[in-house]
Amino acid sequence: MEGYLDPQDGRRRDQPMSCPHTGYPQWVVLHVPHDSAEVPSSVRGQFLLDEVQMAAELDRMTDHLTMALFSDPESKLQVVRAPVSRLVVDVERFACDGDEPMAARGMGAVYAVTSHQLPLRRPLSVEERERLMREYYFPHHARLEAAFSCAIQSEGYCLLIDCHSFPGSALPYELATPDLTRPDICIGTDPFHTSAEIARAFVMEFERAGWRVGVNDPFAGALVPSSRYRSDRRVGAVMVEVNRRLYLDERTAKPLPVFSKVSGQIKGCCMAAAAACRAPERLE
Ligand SMILES: [Zn+2]
Repeated sequence: MEGYLDPQDGRRRDQPMSCPHTGYPQWVVLHVPHDSAEVPSSVRGQFLLDEVQMAAELDRMTDHLTMALFSDPESKLQVVRAPVSRLVVDVERFACDGDEPMAARGMGAVYAVTSHQLPLRRPLSVEERERLMREYYFPHHARLEAAFSCAIQSEGYCLLIDCHSFPGSALPYELATPDLTRPDICIGTDPFHTSAEIARAFVMEFERAGWRVGVNDPFAGALVPSSRYRSDRRVGAVMVEVNRRLYLDERTAKPLPVFSKVSGQIKGCCMAAAAACRAPERLE
């Protein structure tokens, strides 16, 4: 994690390359879907887990501190963060189970099972599911749509950075090989919304900071809400997933002492990559 590859001679240097804090460009929208561990008391009764099990599941499934990792109070920036845990509603999934591949594993927008594929909540009625979607899913997507519209109106272009983290070892629901070494950073792309330039800029910046970068590994794709999905070329998108071992003690879900340094590097890489890949002129 320490050090970086010097672009001058390709050799590894000991000191991390400082990413200059230039701020996020104004066409960037940060999407932070899994930062919250909030489970409102009104929905707590749906879950079949006791307090200890629930706390453990939240520890495993929350993208801890991603808001702090990615967002920058100094930038004039639109950040859309889901206010409730993904265990309540996962705003990253398609609304309709028929469109959502993870629904087959009981993990559509409203999860039925835990990360270990055990029962998470009692079966919900159609009305109960609809209420969850109405209260937590659709308002979130409306906020995202408003942020897009605002960026496109003022900048002519919008780049959505979908901000996540992932556990150092795979959870059972991922159906991945658990002992496979996972990259430090995963860049997720969409064939329509992630141009080769966007993908290259993000991979390059994180590699330059000395990290091992996977593309669509271990997670693939980048979220774009259905209103713009594969129809609006003015919306660029990229997913950035940070391996939690870089910044978190995963047993306690507490930040490592190195947190502020890592967080500065993550922001710096995202800012530099975003600045490098704006190309509204080339969209025409
Ligand atoms: Zn996530």
